[in-house]
Amino acid sequence: MPAIDGHVIKKLMIMGSFGNTILLTFDVEEFDLPLEYGGSISSSEQMAVGREGLKMIQPVLEDSDINCTLFTTANFALKYPAAIASLCLRHEIASHTFFHSSFKPEDLKNSREVLENIISRKVYGLRMPRMKKINAGSVKLAGYTYDSSINPTWIPGRYNNILMPRTYYVENGLTKVPVSVSANFRIPLFWLAFKNLPYSYFRRIARQTLKKDGYLSLYFHPWEFVDLSEYNIPTIVKRKSGNELLEKLKTFINDLKQEGQFMTINSFLENRE
Ligand SMILES: [Zn+2]
Repeated sequence: MPAIDGHVIKKLMIMGSFGNTILLTFDVEEFDLPLEYGGSISSSEQMAVGREGLKMIQPVLEDSDINCTLFTTANFALKYPAAIASLCLRHEIASHTFFHSSFKPEDLKNSREVLENIISRKVYGLRMPRMKKINAGSVKLAGYTYDSSINPTWIPGRYNNILMPRTYYVENGLTKVPVSVSANFRIPLFWLAFKNLPYSYFRRIARQTLKKDGYLSLYFHPWEFVDLSEYNIPTIVKRKSGNELLEKLKTFINDLKQEGQFMTINSFLENRE
């Protein structure tokens, strides 16, 4: 039998015995953020920025040989159906409703059906744009099995979910998969924290959270990896965008590969049942 060194044994123990899982997710969407800050951006530019970002992260995801979950608006998927259909071969495609800038209740079901037509597979998951609150019953009725629209922390001016569960749970027959926050102080392990906190600190709290919860649920957007410096949006959002951020993401993925297995949310939930 070939000798296995201590490092490999340690890695196998982490991945096998404890089953640490990394749920890396991206909201694949039109870049409508300038509208939120009173600016203007045409629909075609919103799409183009989203598409450019997707082209930047795709090789990183492929080279890393990982599986992710991509929450996609039907609007974006209809504009780039071939790109979304090819992504579904490796990753899970889930719904980010129909349009990023507006919502009607029927968009839940309609977006799922549009995406299923494009990818010829079933769509299981939903994430609302801007983590808008959504009733579990209506999500289930629209044909979804899980909802990942909760950031269980306090984001001033956005939402206060500080009392909500930190880890996944079932509500009215629908599984809710919040994005990860640290156990202490509920520091959100999401895109804004990733780009603005020092890397070593972010990695440390991510590792601590992974160890405590057995999984990490992380979320980003492809457009973050496009140079956003010319847009009239807050500095906290546009600083460190583009290639600098892409290199940071590559490092983070490589570091996390030592800590656990990357999985789609649907596979993760199926394995837990
Ligand atoms: Zn979004």
